[in-house]
Amino acid sequence: QRQASSDSACTIYSLSSGHVKCGVSVIRLSGPRTKQALRAIIASGSKNTQNGFEFEPKPRQAYLKSFYHPVSKEMIDRGLLLWFPGPASFTGEDSCEFQVHGSLAVIAAMLDALGQCDGLRPAEPGEFTKRAFFGGKLDLTEVEGLADLIHAETEAQRKQALLQSTGALARLYDSWRKRLIRCAAHLEAYIDFAEEEQIEGGVILQLTRELNTVKAEIRDHLNDQRQGELLRDGVRTCIVGAPNVGKSSLLNMLCQRSVSIVTPQAGTTRDIIETMHNFGGYPVVFADTAGLRRQTSDAIELEGMQRAKQWINQSDLILLVADARELATLDSSQSKSLTNYIEKYLNDLDIQLDLYNGNVLKLVANKTDTLTTDELKNLHKLSNILTISCLQPTNEALQRFLQALEQQLQQLCGTPRAEHPRITHMRYRQQLERCIEHIDIFLSDYKPDVYPDMAIAAQKLRQSVRCIERITGHVSCEDILDVVFKDFCIGK
Ligand code: GDP
Ligand code: ZN
Repeated sequence: QRQASSDSACTIYSLSSGHVKCGVSVIRLSGPRTKQALRAIIASGSKNTQNGFEFEPKPRQAYLKSFYHPVSKEMIDRGLLLWFPGPASFTGEDSCEFQVHGSLAVIAAMLDALGQCDGLRPAEPGEFTKRAFFGGKLDLTEVEGLADLIHAETEAQRKQALLQSTGALARLYDSWRKRLIRCAAHLEAYIDFAEEEQIEGGVILQLTRELNTVKAEIRDHLNDQRQGELLRDGVRTCIVGAPNVGKSSLLNMLCQRSVSIVTPQAGTTRDIIETMHNFGGYPVVFADTAGLRRQTSDAIELEGMQRAKQWINQSDLILLVADARELATLDSSQSKSLTNYIEKYLNDLDIQLDLYNGNVLKLVANKTDTLTTDELKNLHKLSNILTISCLQPTNEALQRFLQALEQQLQQLCGTPRAEHPRITHMRYRQQLERCIEHIDIFLSDYKPDVYPDMAIAAQKLRQSVRCIERITGHVSCEDILDVVFKDFCIGK
């Protein structure tokens, strides 16, 4: 069971909708004094209508009520009140919701009124969710899924976050955890009840088989080409090519044709300007790596080039821009000629790519407007190449280009599915890899005809359980909690 939050005795309140003018605003409360507070807010104070103090709300039912300031007794607004008694609430505690008119004045008056109620204080960012976590309502993957759902910018991101916030990963990880615990418990039972020589070979075989099965399932889950992470964090995309081939023009065109995404984490790679964009539901992070030129003696420019090259190798998608004129002269009947061209081009640019990490390179032939019809036909015969004129894009060419780009993104990000929840955080991946390592250490010690010290062997197996528990938050891990809840909004 999880340790209790430091001051769960406190009742917290917060505006859960944004601090902007809107039709309806939602203010939430959670904690043991919720019912007293809601009663104080609906009691008008005049002698014959003190019945607010006896008001007995039914769970999860909306009441239309007048809300009063408990000190000035002045009416603030008329709105809806909902009561969610614990433990069947989001936080697991008694909680309630006030829905009031969304003006800044009403919100300010309501928050002031709640501040006057006994034992209430404003909630910290993410504190409602933190209470839900400590109350055992959500595990950490669900908490992080919820944070992602709140921050989701594209349709595919929303789907993935929704699955995770409703427990798709939690169930998977918990099933592995339970199976590993069962294996360890099995082993421990023998330590207590049997002499070493009495252990049946069959039991050992069964244990080994189960561990190998769990291991294979985790391996399979890890072998995902980072699709979930790409969808969550955005597909890092760079545009490279020789000077004047139209890199900036392409970047500008793509940025104009996409919905830009505002992210608080933008610009994480120093000195390279990053922007996030939505292409057909898939998030793309562009970096402007302008100035990737081969020969330069300027120190600052050299430094910039170094960074740009680093970025290229960290990119998930590389758009290599070339002049359509050059490509049009290639022999389309020879598939090798394009590969050779790309190799030579990269070499001329002094770019070494290790295309092993799942990243993809796409050749873009720009300036098709400079070609004759025949040349363009020849160019279209080359397979696996995108064509565009950034200067004079026809609607048809642009559609084709964007469609091909979206298709590529879809391949990189995959499709979120309930049956196959995906790793969305590096942290999960690292712990799962360690989990496998611990299972392997155990298996290498423990063979059918070798009987190691059982207590030590069982302990090693318990280590693998702990790795999974670090993902889900079953073991206390303050450092992880700080990171997880840091990015939460107020009121959630
Ligand atoms: P960069 O150096 O690779 O970033 O190239 P720019 O985007 O700055 O473009 C270099 C030059 O090529 C500019 O004069 C552009 O107007 C021109 N240019 C870019 N795209 C096209 C195109 O599709 N057709 C033609 N004809 N010119 C283009
Ligand atoms: Zn440029």
